[in-house]
Amino acid sequence: MKIQNLTKIFPSRNKKNEADVTAVDDFTIELTDSELVGLLGPSGCGKSTVLNLICGLLTPDAGRIFFGGDDVTELPPEDRGIGLVFQNYALYPHLTALQNILFPLQNLKGADKLSKEAMLAKANETAKLVQIDGLLDRKPGELSGGQQQRVAIARALVKTPRVLLLDEPLSNLDARLRLQMREEIRRIQQRTRITTVFVTHDQEEAMSICDTIVVMRDGSIEQAGKPQDVYDSPANLFVAQFLGTPPINVFLGRVSGGVLYAGDDAILTAGGVPDQDVYIGIRPEGFALDGNGPLRCELDRVEVMGRDVSIVSTHGASVNASVRSIVSAESAAVFGEIRFAVRPDKVYLFDRETEKRVPAELSAGGRAGQNVRRM
Ligand code: ADP
Ligand code: MG
Repeated sequence: MKIQNLTKIFPSRNKKNEADVTAVDDFTIELTDSELVGLLGPSGCGKSTVLNLICGLLTPDAGRIFFGGDDVTELPPEDRGIGLVFQNYALYPHLTALQNILFPLQNLKGADKLSKEAMLAKANETAKLVQIDGLLDRKPGELSGGQQQRVAIARALVKTPRVLLLDEPLSNLDARLRLQMREEIRRIQQRTRITTVFVTHDQEEAMSICDTIVVMRDGSIEQAGKPQDVYDSPANLFVAQFLGTPPINVFLGRVSGGVLYAGDDAILTAGGVPDQDVYIGIRPEGFALDGNGPLRCELDRVEVMGRDVSIVSTHGASVNASVRSIVSAESAAVFGEIRFAVRPDKVYLFDRETEKRVPAELSAGGRAGQNVRRM
């Protein structure tokens, strides 16, 4: 699937003072067939609008959409071969699960029309795939949220769509079920190999099951790639902050004479960076308690999380109210000043103006450590 320069503008409702909303802004992406792609971004960034453009419920102001080699931009939704699943299941309440799944097949016309037996066989096969074959006589009101969502997925899959679109399909489920269902979506997608676009605002959800993630902001793509690659190599501060729990820690910093400072602390050697103010991003797993470490924080509290502990501290140059580091449960923190060494591969520099990543060769030791001990 290929999306080229897609733009969608919603006119302002309030003629007096509101500006038009550019919900999707020159959005271009090419997906590999059989891929599970996560569209990820904060609420209002245009994810649903992209999905609605792909399925044809909305018409773009500019841009083209291709499935395989076919330009489908002008095709009505019913001719695009799309399966759609929404957050709120949208099942027909008066129909049984089986009748809900059969519904798209019963609407097939002309050459595509199936016999009753063929329809039943297809519906049963799809119900098995999503593991609701024992519940087919029940109406939606007699099914749990997770079961209803399985029926909705079966209904979307029964016509073997070219593209499956899932818009926040797990948002109505409780935390445990969400974990289970996201694995299910992965399993079903791998079984069917149907190219799937999965929309979520939950970065962990997208990171855990998608082949590719597309991070969006204000209708545009900030960065796309394999989840681990985007996490390990964020292109800008927004992407760095959007991915990861707990989120990345951000400090006001500067590079001076090849040394990276967070406030007064010379935390790393920074090769290849001209002197400048930067934002420093440090992932929570990038800290190690070290009595001689260069980053000096004030301990606030320690939260035990089973295998790990989260050390919450403060630092004068921290942009966030607190600095959150994850260390192994064996490390003991004492109250007062605590010192951290930082792992260079978990530290990123961003331009203060553009917030784009500043390439740097970061390393521990050298003049970085010495500066602190002098003070
Ligand atoms: P997301 O799914 O990422 O939360 P949406 O695609 O729903 O975001 O919305 C993107 C932007 O477009 C938002 O600012 C939203 O208010 C606006 N928008 C969405 N649909 C409409 C509409 N039908 N009319 C006007 N504005 C809309
Ligand atoms: Mg949405």
